[in-house]
This record gives sequence, C-alpha cells and structure tokens, in this order.
Amino acid sequence: MTELEKDCLFCKIIRGEIPSYTVFENDDVKAFLDISQVTKGHTLIIPKKHLINFFDYSQEDAARFLQYIPVVAQAIKKSDPTIKGLNVEVNNGEIAGQVVMHSHIHLIPRRSENDPIS
Ligand code: ADP
Repeated sequence: MTELEKDCLFCKIIRGEIPSYTVFENDDVKAFLDISQVTKGHTLIIPKKHLINFFDYSQEDAARFLQYIPVVAQAIKKSDPTIKGLNVEVNNGEIAGQVVMHSHIHLIPRRSENDPIS
C-alpha cells in the first residue's frame, strides 16, 4: 500500500477502517451514502483503485469503473419509488470543488423541484 492509499479517507472506507453505509459493492467499485446528504439517498460511487480524479484515468479505468454509474443509479431509483430523477455530479480537481482526492461520483436523488441544490 502506498502512503497516499494509507492516508486516503476513501481508501480507509474501502478497507473498512471508517464506517460507511454500503449501497453497492463489487471487486471494482464501492457505492455508499454521503455523510452529508444533499437529499435522502445521496450516494458516492468510488473506484477501489486509488485514482485522484478523471485526469488520472486511463481509457481502461474509465471502461472498468464508470460502467457502474447506471447500475447504481438504477438500484437507487428502484429502492425508493418517490425518486423521479438523479443529479450525477463530479467535482474534478480542487478548483472545481473537489475536496476528497479519491475519485468519486455523486448521485443525488431528486423527488421534487423544491429539493435543495448541491
Ligand atoms: P464537496 O465536499 O464539495 O462535495 P467532493 O466532491 O470532494 O467535494 O465530495 C466529497 C464528499 O465526500 C462530500 O459530499 C462529503 O460529504 C463526503 N464525505 C466526506 N467524508 C465522508 C465519510 N466519512 N463518509 C461518507 N461521505 C463522506
């Protein structure tokens, strides 16, 4: 394990050193509830490989990890019939608002037009 992986918040979640509520998991990715829910069911999908953000992805990484966005989106929608849509958001790089430097995709359920904006 590299020093980066040892100290990374989301690597710690993958290793189970920090608790999380898992929505979906396999050998490649983990999806878990965001600790600060913009709306109920706000989920993060992360690759188990420590990639910082999309600037760090090979084409192979993209094919391997990003295929799970619709899988998790469908699972979230199926779990709650009140969900009508989802915002799929990525803050890619510090200047774009990325705080945790392990690649993650936000899935934010939308039930009504009055839902808070992230
Ligand atoms: P922003 O905080 O601007 O959304 P990011 O796109 O980097 O920046 O998102 C990091 C996300 O990680 C935040 O939504 C934050 O609430 C979430 N988060 C931080 N710590 C944890 C944790 N221990 N468990 C689950 N989610 C977490």
